[in-house]
Amino acid sequence: MLKGKVAIVTGSTSGIGLGITEVLAAQQCDVMMNGFGDEKMIAALQAKLHRQYKVKIGYHGADMTQPDEVQAMVKATRRELGSVDILVNNAGIQHVASIEEFPRAKWDQVMAINLSAPFHAIQAAIPHMRKKKWGRIVNIASAHGLVASVNKSAYVAAKHGLVGLTKVAALELAGSGITCNAICPGWVLTPLVQKQIDEKAHDKKIKVKEAEIELLSEKQPSKQFVTPEQIGKLVLFLCSSGADQITGSSQSIDGGWTAQ
Ligand code: NAD
Repeated sequence: MLKGKVAIVTGSTSGIGLGITEVLAAQQCDVMMNGFGDEKMIAALQAKLHRQYKVKIGYHGADMTQPDEVQAMVKATRRELGSVDILVNNAGIQHVASIEEFPRAKWDQVMAINLSAPFHAIQAAIPHMRKKKWGRIVNIASAHGLVASVNKSAYVAAKHGLVGLTKVAALELAGSGITCNAICPGWVLTPLVQKQIDEKAHDKKIKVKEAEIELLSEKQPSKQFVTPEQIGKLVLFLCSSGADQITGSSQSIDGGWTAQ
């Protein structure tokens, strides 16, 4: 379905980004991966995906806190893979603390990675997409882009901001063949969430499995995790012609979290 297209998936060395990369690669899309991790582990991931799907899998180590590096990643993708047709802004971090105790540096870091990086990547990618009169921008926001939780001020503010940025980009790009949408997942069992489960187990002196059930029960009525593959399939749909007129939207994939 995506043969001849090139995607950038930020934060794709782990979790949701890796799941999205795999779904896109399986549809013959070339992908520029990004994110942190051990060099050998990343090279092995690239080799595995290339072997399995016979597509080009690049890697750019841009640090999403650095606007120049974000721009350089978009340029390198054009140079090395020939185009930038799909941009998935997925890289993100979390920090859990009350407003009174929230470290200033953490606030800045969450904002830089979760909100400013998508802006810089979108700004760099738009000219290439305009030339081709086709493009897909998908911002991985969160249920926390639509509703709040305690102790997540920076994350909730950044994700609400990302939903807002999605709407502005959609309006500015309307009719150009380029769409911009947000995906708002509920809990997905990735390292980002595992850390929160482990902290809960530690703080409450309960087993990790109990903490997992408690975490799901608090927010997600289905009491089941969303999977990275399911999010990848939603990205794929947003890249299809069936989604040509879907733009500026926020797609919830959250087991009922935000229906409450
Ligand atoms: P994860 O921790 O498994 O992966 C995060 C990825 O971002 C990794 O590849 C990491 O290397 C990369 N990254 C972190 N800082 C970076 C930086 N400065 N520069 C470049 N790359 C960087 O997390 P995940 O759960 O897969 O989260 C992916 C996205 O999905 C995030 O935006 C997150 O907010 C969002 N999300 C996650 C959940 C969930 O339940 N896991 C729910 C809703 C939304």
